[in-house]
Amino acid sequence: MRAFLVLLARNRLALAGGVVMSLVLLLVLLTPILPLADPDVTNTSNRFQPIFSDGALLGTDHLGRDLLSRLMWGTRLSLAVGFAAAIVAATLGAAIGIIAGFYGGRTDNIIMRGVDMLMAFPYILLALAIVAALGPGLFNALIAVAAVNVPFFARNIRGITVGIAHKEFVDAARLAGLSNTRIILSEILPNVIPVIVIAMSTTIGWMILETAGLSFLGLGSQPPQADLGSMLGEARSALITNPHTSIVPGMMILIIVMSINLLGDGVRDALDPRLKSGALSRPMATTKVDRKGAVPEPTGKGLLEVQGLETQFHVKDRVYRAVGGVDLHVEKGECLGIIGESGSGKSVTALSLMGLVASPPGVITGGAVHYDGEDLIGAPYRRLRDMRGRNVAYIFQDPLATLHPLYRVGDQLIEAIRSHRPIGKAEGQAKAVELLRAVRIPNAEKRVSDYPHEMSGGMRQRVGIAMALANDPDIIIADEPTTALDVTVQAQVLTILDDLRRSRGLAIVFITHDFGVVAQLCDRVAVMYAGRVVEEGSTKDILQAPRHPYTARLMACVPELGGGKRRLEAITGLPPAVDRLPEGCAFADRCLKVQTECRRGKIPLDWQGDRKVRCLYPEQGTREAAE
Ligand code: ADP
Ligand code: MG
Repeated sequence: MRAFLVLLARNRLALAGGVVMSLVLLLVLLTPILPLADPDVTNTSNRFQPIFSDGALLGTDHLGRDLLSRLMWGTRLSLAVGFAAAIVAATLGAAIGIIAGFYGGRTDNIIMRGVDMLMAFPYILLALAIVAALGPGLFNALIAVAAVNVPFFARNIRGITVGIAHKEFVDAARLAGLSNTRIILSEILPNVIPVIVIAMSTTIGWMILETAGLSFLGLGSQPPQADLGSMLGEARSALITNPHTSIVPGMMILIIVMSINLLGDGVRDALDPRLKSGALSRPMATTKVDRKGAVPEPTGKGLLEVQGLETQFHVKDRVYRAVGGVDLHVEKGECLGIIGESGSGKSVTALSLMGLVASPPGVITGGAVHYDGEDLIGAPYRRLRDMRGRNVAYIFQDPLATLHPLYRVGDQLIEAIRSHRPIGKAEGQAKAVELLRAVRIPNAEKRVSDYPHEMSGGMRQRVGIAMALANDPDIIIADEPTTALDVTVQAQVLTILDDLRRSRGLAIVFITHDFGVVAQLCDRVAVMYAGRVVEEGSTKDILQAPRHPYTARLMACVPELGGGKRRLEAITGLPPAVDRLPEGCAFADRCLKVQTECRRGKIPLDWQGDRKVRCLYPEQGTREAAE
């Protein structure tokens, strides 16, 4: 709730609308106790007094009634009717929409055709017809305005409900044995309430106008009772001779509708869940770069060289140091593993390379990423876009989320190629089949016209790899590509990647949390902890003799087939929160060998024999010896 108000207040126009609306509401609430003249007492000897005349601040109307008093009481009435109509319309409309959307099938059909029939009539005509049938009067006007707005709410809410009714959490509720009523109340309703509020906030202004319109025509409030519409209607005959009698209620309508609409737009923006995380701004095309220190010069090590990369998330006044100075490099045709617990900054590191971290809140605050000698951090968007997919391609964990559900996989492959070079239809199709063959999808000619949902998880991940291969990149960054797959499929996918690397000279940066996978695929491995590399060296050396206590503990967590009975050691405690990193070694709190020096200053990543380690008291000896 507080976050919502803060977000709302950040929108200046909405804030202004809110302030004006609150003032108006305060005034109309205080109307009964303000020292105002009776709004209905006529005094024909005193008619058409101008504004600022004695005893009548806003003048008098054609019957000598005090305009200020009539305005206040009239506004009170108009707002009350408008709000009541909005609440009635929203409640009824939402109920109809939820029932139609939730039950679907014939219920949906019957209800929605009825709604469509109502919608087929022009708005105001329908309202007029309803009032004509019920007879003039403010209450009947309220019914009419509410009725003509019900279809709008019903349509909106039905659409949202249809989307939610087939989500997994609703299925889960069904499996748990909840009744339909309970599911609607506890699962569906909370999800549509924001939409109802949004629809209401943007239509209340309309409803006040419609009520005023009916009153203007004499079908709403009846004399002598004043509402804004009837005041305008009565002033119509004196529009030229005494314009103030029209201007006073007219201005009020303008002020109310303007402020409600501004506020309503603000509420919609602030409540829209898609806008929540990124405040009110869209992510930029590339990650924001704000480098404070000097930019490191390339040393020419490797095809891709990362030096001192720092990526932070700036959320409100907090700074999350997700990546705090990472050095890596990968040679042509080499496979570099990045391993670490969840949250250690592996994905953010990988996404930073091509400027793919969402900004806001992401900011690259230091370091350099040299690709073939060219610094990619801060490179113009056009350059990065040109390189994404063509020089450096990504494979992500969940292939279903990366593939578009409505296009055939072949077309998606062709699209990936087309974003970098024009390609004809036949050639594209041939290339798509060739790519699917390269990732060993059996029966590629047929599978190329499958939709993603027709494939199994392993097949989809192969398509993901094929897509990464589409433009013959030099480097593939694979972010836990096998985590969602079972072990046998994982083994097949790893074999494919390994073969591709050898046959095409691909460099692979393979991110995982599984030492087994590293052992199978990677030449070198970098162990990450709390946004930093804590140990880096050849896979063989590290597997044989981990030096950093964290690496050693991480490896002790992996079970070995045929390794005999051995206690699997879970690492106790949690990694530090990246917005409150401790001084010294980030692993100190969980380390069994921690000393006082470990908690002081900055501990460097130094060469220790065959590898680099960020530890003052590294492990000695090999694993076999330790066991
Ligand atoms: P992993 O190693 O599991 O891939 P990530 O690179 O995804 O970890 O995340 C590294 C750290 O960055 C985590 O502590 C995470 O909480 C933080 N982080 C990631 N995205 C955001 C974000 N949008 N806002 C704030 N913190 C984030
Ligand atoms: Mg990750």
